[in-house]
Amino acid sequence: MNNAELFARAQRVIPGGVNSPVRAFRAVGGTPRFIARAQGPYMWDAEGRRYIDYIGSWGPMILGHGHPAVLEAVQKAAADGFSFGAPTEREVELAEAIIARVPSIEQVRLVSSGTEAAMSALRLARGATGRPMIVKFEGCYHGHADALLVKAGSGLATFGHPTSAGVPAEVVQHTLVLEYNNLAQLDEAFKVHGDRIACVMVEPIAGNMNFVRASLPFMSLLRELCTKHGALLVFDEVMTGFRVALGGAQSLYAEQIRGFAPDMSVFGKVIGGGMPLAAFGGPKRIMEQLAPLGPVYQAGTLSGNPVATACGLATLAEISKPGFFDALAAKTQSLVQGLLAAARDAGVPMAGDSEGGMFGFFFADHLPQNYAAVMATDKERFNRFFHAMLERGVYLAPALYEAGFVSAAHGDDDIAATVAAAREALRA
Ligand SMILES: *Cc1c(COP(=O)(O)O)cnc(C)c1O
Repeated sequence: MNNAELFARAQRVIPGGVNSPVRAFRAVGGTPRFIARAQGPYMWDAEGRRYIDYIGSWGPMILGHGHPAVLEAVQKAAADGFSFGAPTEREVELAEAIIARVPSIEQVRLVSSGTEAAMSALRLARGATGRPMIVKFEGCYHGHADALLVKAGSGLATFGHPTSAGVPAEVVQHTLVLEYNNLAQLDEAFKVHGDRIACVMVEPIAGNMNFVRASLPFMSLLRELCTKHGALLVFDEVMTGFRVALGGAQSLYAEQIRGFAPDMSVFGKVIGGGMPLAAFGGPKRIMEQLAPLGPVYQAGTLSGNPVATACGLATLAEISKPGFFDALAAKTQSLVQGLLAAARDAGVPMAGDSEGGMFGFFFADHLPQNYAAVMATDKERFNRFFHAMLERGVYLAPALYEAGFVSAAHGDDDIAATVAAAREALRA
């Protein structure tokens, strides 16, 4: 069956034909590609067409597809059993591996998805502080827990509105949504609500509005206000963790802000290496509030799954080899520089940025600093560019508000082929 036939068949039995909305290509139009297999930096669709993959399963595939060491670890683990519902040594090893790489974490709990990790971190933050309110930023995505599906209300006095049907207004009445990188608004929010805020959850480099960094002054102020008012600063590093640097985005802020650390962190994507695995962690005094030690309930039948932990451990071992992130960052930078040069030569305004193996580009003169600015970039041009690249065998994220990902398996020839395709696409 070809892609169109598969999509028609899928739409009969799966809502919209997909199990996660962005895969349906609604933002860019056209027929989604049904992927048959993948190897290294490439994916092949149902029609046998090859694509250079810059989605990498939305981040997890940092080593590329089918890395031999990871594949071997997964096959061995699968032979020993899929799931036990009892503790295993590998869970301990993965917890130790995460803690060893992220200094702000003393204890960690493993779960199965980023959504679950963020939702649990939120409950823990509320339980540990005894406060109801949470703060998030417009354009940051933390999974689809009810309390996090919120858009900004009108002004600081009013709380958010649900962004999804099925979420009662009461459920989001304690969620305050602020503008990313807006220092004055943050300051004002703490002035008004400071002693009721349990936590502020933030993507330190926002990858769900393409690629937007939290500025240093913004992050410094955020840390300062949380500390002053007794609120927990929760870093959602589901995307950035083990992707922009071995120690996550928090290691980059720690290099530039003295003594910087978040209070809690949320991980996913890369730590599962493509298997359903995520985690949340922090200092012992907070983590000990979780059941069975403390009053905050949290559980999971498949949590710490033995095959998923094997995949995560093998992935972490590979990315911890000396020079891994330097090489990945250089490759990603050369891709972004190539795209920008191609745009310049074609007379098309483009701005771009990257960190480690994560990148973003915008059809705009400057890098946007918040969600509204991202959504004001040239969408028509992005959609045309997306399809022109797809036709040329380059698979970029199918929406202008998504980040891109480079893997260690991408070769210089793949980057060069991508830039060459971009030159053609931008001229057309
Ligand atoms: C992907 C993502 C999530 C949700 O993770 P799922 O595994 O898709 O539930 C949460 N936060 C961020 C920052 C993400 O990028």
